[in-house]
Amino acid sequence: MTTTETSIFDAVESNVRGYCRSWPTVFDTASGSWLHDEGGRDYLDFFAGAGSLNYGHNNPVLKQALIDYISRDGITHGLDMSTVAKRGLLETFQRTILTPRDLDYKVQFPGPTGANAVEAALKLARKVTGRTEIINFTNAFHGMSLGALSVTGNAAKRAGAGVPLVHTTSMPYDGYLGDSDGLDWMERVLDDSSSGQDNPAAVIVETVQGEGGVNIARPEWLRRLAELCADRGILLIVDDVQMGCGRTGPFFSFEAAGITPDIVTLSKSISGYGLPMALVLMKRELDVWAPGEHNGTFRGNNPAFITATAALEHFWSDDTLQTATQVKGERARRALSGLAAAYDGLSTRGRGMVQGLVFDDASQAGKVTQVAFEHGLLVETSGAEDEVVKLLPPLTITGAELDHGLEILASAVDAVCA
Ligand code: PMP
Repeated sequence: MTTTETSIFDAVESNVRGYCRSWPTVFDTASGSWLHDEGGRDYLDFFAGAGSLNYGHNNPVLKQALIDYISRDGITHGLDMSTVAKRGLLETFQRTILTPRDLDYKVQFPGPTGANAVEAALKLARKVTGRTEIINFTNAFHGMSLGALSVTGNAAKRAGAGVPLVHTTSMPYDGYLGDSDGLDWMERVLDDSSSGQDNPAAVIVETVQGEGGVNIARPEWLRRLAELCADRGILLIVDDVQMGCGRTGPFFSFEAAGITPDIVTLSKSISGYGLPMALVLMKRELDVWAPGEHNGTFRGNNPAFITATAALEHFWSDDTLQTATQVKGERARRALSGLAAAYDGLSTRGRGMVQGLVFDDASQAGKVTQVAFEHGLLVETSGAEDEVVKLLPPLTITGAELDHGLEILASAVDAVCA
């Protein structure tokens, strides 16, 4: 359904564009959990900029901080110079996030995107260990640049490279082999001295695979993985680009498992305002970078530092958001479970405010998101076959908005599955 003029996009923009095909309209403004198109239609947002808007669109607290900063001609582009905005962010991140969790990480600004953070993390792990191989997991998603795509387990995305990627080893994610534990297999492969192969430099893992279809690693699986890596001098990288910043409840998704990764990647909601920004956190002793060794022009998005600082102060000085996320996540989970109980071929999985409705018939999942769009709800599919409708609303969504979106979703499921 086209409510606004879109022909210029077809004429001028590359064929590679994606989301505009699921949501064929032209968006103009947004606030809180709502987007508005130029035709005057309102859409409730259960996608939150692919997880970049955990605090909603144009959050008033962050917006005011940004307006104040721009009004006083604060630096916008700072390369990796020391700035007042960056100092504020580092101090606030240390005080609100690292110190209370007893985490001793150094912070790197690797560039604007999640893929930039993953690239830096992989490169650092190779440099620290002097080894090259990286282990990733089935259905993993880590980004579209060459290194990040090499550790991404999705055939369609990998095909975008056109030619074979850098070699990495894929291991079964938790649950991939049913009841038998893929870590048994991994341990045997790593310890098979007859193979003559070196250990990998690092293992990269998502605690919940967002793009991979809301696949959830159990805390005990993550703990064993961390142990297995530590015992062999393999660095554990947790990619928290999508599940970090409170998506699953706690600020870091790995907190629930009680593990301390060697390296952590963050992006998406770290700026809180949809402004491009990423962080790599590395255990202090892993900071082997020489000055200027990993550079890039856009590592100093100071307006993003300002909104990130405001978000940390406002949302992470206490447990309010974490608790609300768990309560609202449970509410969404119950609604989805009701749908799964009502129709054959549906099941659910989720944690906090990332919830999946899994369709045995993947084509139904796509149809549900289409009908939902027509009824004013933005929600996307994920998973190897796009078989999972993934709910990723802003964490700040109100209970009434959440219920409203869940009702639209339920009517879309009724329309497709009945
Ligand atoms: N890692 C994970 C877990 C992601 O979900 C994504 C983006 N969906 C990325 C990395 C890549 O981030 P970006 O799109 O900003 O490059």
